[in-house]
Amino acid sequence: MISQRVRGLKAYKTETTPAKVKLSSNELNVDFPDYVKERIKEEVSKIPINRYPDPKAEKLKEAIAYRFGVKPENILLGNGSDELIYYLSIAVGEFNRGVFYPVPTFPMYEISARIFGRDRVEVPLDRNFDLDLPSSVKAIQEKDPVLAYFSFPNNPTGGCFSEEKINAIRNLGLFCVIDEAYYHYSKRTFLQEALKSDSLVILRTLSKIGMAGLRVGILIGREDVIYELDKMRLPFNITYPSQVIARLMLTEFYDLIEKEVQKVIREREKLFESLRSFKELEVFPSDANFILFRVKSMSADELHSKLVERGVLIRNVSYLPGLDGCLRVSIGRSEENEIFLQALHSVLSL
Ligand SMILES: *Cc1c(COP(=O)(O)O)cnc(C)c1O
Repeated sequence: MISQRVRGLKAYKTETTPAKVKLSSNELNVDFPDYVKERIKEEVSKIPINRYPDPKAEKLKEAIAYRFGVKPENILLGNGSDELIYYLSIAVGEFNRGVFYPVPTFPMYEISARIFGRDRVEVPLDRNFDLDLPSSVKAIQEKDPVLAYFSFPNNPTGGCFSEEKINAIRNLGLFCVIDEAYYHYSKRTFLQEALKSDSLVILRTLSKIGMAGLRVGILIGREDVIYELDKMRLPFNITYPSQVIARLMLTEFYDLIEKEVQKVIREREKLFESLRSFKELEVFPSDANFILFRVKSMSADELHSKLVERGVLIRNVSYLPGLDGCLRVSIGRSEENEIFLQALHSVLSL
């Protein structure tokens, strides 16, 4: 009795192989100091777990609004931005109108479109992994999608698309979602435009700044847009522990998070240069907390499994369109990046 729509799906893939050094999910590899853990314990021990949490997560929303420079009325929270992508793929336009996104990109746009049986208008990126504007315009005019997703910077290619090209697509009248999951690493945003528009929202998340385990995604938009979208939110979608811990981290320990993010940005530049010194690799510039590269001297599968043998897990993305031979490595702490580079060196010089 399960529908063809669902039977045809492939489950979202994550790397779960255990490894000493895990650089596969673009997390912030920070081990918070003991005084932070103590404060978390203290706050968590006060939670009445027999009670439902605040359905509106007001205190957490206030902390997020303050940090992101918006009002609580501009915010909709989700159980990760993945949940918010589901909501958008349900709420924007009728199901008989399609969803546009460039490929390769973050898989949830495709998965959510498929789940709701919507047409997928996929247009390959150009050779610089930027939007191919002529092909995009043509596809949009032919297939008339109503919703567009842009991962900005794009996961897994790492760079930001040209803002002019995004704006050109916005001008075709689609509802546009700018997924700024890596905002803290790129510092580029459509936030001000989103606050003014009834056809543009942005997505942020706490997952890439040290809180992936809490599952807090953030949609920011104009008050009236948020008001409508909030009607479909599942009640209590942010758990009590997540509300409490995320708020604590954003109020008392935000400086620490910002410092860790700055470290990753510095490490990104170092790792980029180190990777570029391998003649067997083609390395792509990144505005995010990961780097995409192509290996030319062996297959991506082989490199991936040889790194796993050496205790290093990165993401093999070579099965994605246009990414043959490509792997994606998340930026870890200095010593983790060093272990990765040594492992890479030993595999490539075999
Ligand atoms: C990691 C990632 C997300 C997922 O965010 P969650 O809040 O953890 O669900 C969303 N979009 C992009 C582009 C990502 O890379």
